[in-house]
This record gives sequence, C-alpha cells and structure tokens, in this order.
Amino acid sequence: MTNTKSYKKSLYIDQVRAEGISRRYVCSECFGELKIDIDPDNRNQRILYCFDCQEDTKGFVSRTTVEMRIAAAKEELYEVKANYPELAPREVNKSADQMISEMGF
Ligand SMILES: [Zn+2]
Repeated sequence: MTNTKSYKKSLYIDQVRAEGISRRYVCSECFGELKIDIDPDNRNQRILYCFDCQEDTKGFVSRTTVEMRIAAAKEELYEVKANYPELAPREVNKSADQMISEMGF
C-alpha cells in the first residue's frame, strides 16, 4: 500500500502509546481531536495526527493546557465586559416586526 499523505510532522508510535496520547492531548493548532491510523509502511506502528489538520499537523498540546487557556480567556472576557460595558452588544427589546417597520418595509 502506498501512502499518499505526508505525515512528516505527525507522531509514529505503537498502538498503546497512541491511544494514551490521544486521550490526554489535542492538536496544538486547532485544539481538535487526534486520529490514529495504521502506518501503511509498518503495520505494527501507528501514526498520530490531527483529525482536522491532517498532514498539516504541527504538534500536540495537553487537554489540561487547553482547559487553562479557555478559563483564562473567559476571565479576560468577563473583565472586559465589566470594565468596558460600552463594547458589549446591546440588548434588543424590539420585535422583528418593529425593526422591519422602522426600516421602512
Ligand atoms: Zn488541528
């Protein structure tokens, strides 16, 4: 079998280690899930790469790190909303019919 994809930046390891890593890590670029494929050149070896980035996989990052980044981003968003309320989207209390009417339709 000929492999047409380039997996140069992916990780080549055994099945057990691939499963362990895919449980604890995600793609470092898109935070997407990792995929395990059988290496067509060595059926005892597995190729671990990002399901979405495919051959453009750059690396992996732990799920814990991603959770910490999301928590920090939520905290920053909360601070921005609290300190700059004028930047938050305004509540719209008008009905769709009222807005359409005001636009002249
Ligand atoms: Zn990715």
